[in-house]
Amino acid sequence: MTCVSEAGAGAERIGASRNGKGGTGQKGRLDWLLRMPPEVERAHERDCGSERVKHLRHAIIVGLIVYNIYNLTSLYLMADIQPFTVAMRLLVLLPGSLAIFLLVPRVPPAIRELLLLQGMFVASLLPLYLLYISQSSYASYTLGELPLVLLFGNMLLVLRFRLALVFTTVTCLTALWVIHTKPGLDQNLVFPLTVQVVTGLFFTLYGNWHFERQRCLTYLAQYDAENRADRAERRGEALRDLTLTDMLTGIANRRHLDETLDAWLAGDRDVLLMMVDVDHFKAFNDRFGHVAGDDCLRRIASALQAFAARHDGFAARYGGEEFTLLFAVDTETGGAFLADRLVRTVRELSIPHPARLDGLSAVTVSVGYAGTRESGVREVRDLVTRADLALYEAKSAGRNRSKAG
Ligand code: GH3
Ligand code: MG
Ligand code: MG
Repeated sequence: MTCVSEAGAGAERIGASRNGKGGTGQKGRLDWLLRMPPEVERAHERDCGSERVKHLRHAIIVGLIVYNIYNLTSLYLMADIQPFTVAMRLLVLLPGSLAIFLLVPRVPPAIRELLLLQGMFVASLLPLYLLYISQSSYASYTLGELPLVLLFGNMLLVLRFRLALVFTTVTCLTALWVIHTKPGLDQNLVFPLTVQVVTGLFFTLYGNWHFERQRCLTYLAQYDAENRADRAERRGEALRDLTLTDMLTGIANRRHLDETLDAWLAGDRDVLLMMVDVDHFKAFNDRFGHVAGDDCLRRIASALQAFAARHDGFAARYGGEEFTLLFAVDTETGGAFLADRLVRTVRELSIPHPARLDGLSAVTVSVGYAGTRESGVREVRDLVTRADLALYEAKSAGRNRSKAG
């Protein structure tokens, strides 16, 4: 699945076009903290994790450049505590951010998001601390940075909504505490600064909620659509399997045989075709009934299939108590060898058949085979006819044996 949900405006378009209202049907699957079901979260990380990491690393670099410009403004606004402010930014925030930049692609997703939260705490609380300790009458102007820091965390990094909630709440409470307790702050500034902080909180948190919700709804719609497509594909495959499977024995049916034989003969390889017929099967049915007859056919079918698999061949039920096997064998001795082993394999199943009158007391098969190499035949009908004639000979010669066509 490709990731469309980390892609901002593009994601909105896709989400909207999928269900008309940007994922309306998916809302019930998000909790109030905008968490998706755990399996969807895992799939999202698998599909979109690398995209997010890329985005985060770009955003961290942009954020660092802009943030360090405030080194210059603090030279004017907090002249009394220089070079402390510059040192704090350069020695604490810069290395911390670079460490996050390096760690983001290397840690598990949950840790990655927590690292971002931690970085944002430092970025927002450090200026508040500097403001608190500065005696400069201009210091309160540094609060102008705060909405930008909120904007960066909530709408550029797009912290996961639950973390944005924590970040914004802690930052704003601290800012309000500083505004209301800082000694010497002009009382006329308290109300306007409070309003600035609170509106910054609502504005950026609402933006974050909107982005995050859109990301989740888009991904949920995408996830469901892909799942539906997968299910439909699996159903299609199952149906196709069904049309190619013999209902009684579970091995390939006549249709599958025809398709396979056509394909094999259309190629260059030599093909050995065996017609296999259960001996005296009518008498078996008459003696044990058709249910036992069905069981007997199932056992023979699975023995034939295992035999074919052992020799890179293909086994199918031709119809009734007759089976066809195909092998890519190109020598006469190879054909005789395989056909004899096949006859023996069925005999060694030792399925009792007391009703037969030829002295044997187990179920056996007769086999007629024909190969494209010996006969020079590559027509399906001709090859089957040759094998059929050989089968007739095997029957006439006493059954429980194979004949070449
Ligand atoms: P031969 O050795 O000459 O092949 O004798 P045979 O009795 O096997 O041959 P015949 O053609 O006289 O009888 C085939 C029998 O196979 C008759 C039919 O009832 C049985 N048969 C065909 N399909 C099925 C099936 O799906 N289930 C069961 N139980 N019997 C089947
Ligand atoms: Mg028959
Ligand atoms: Mg038969």
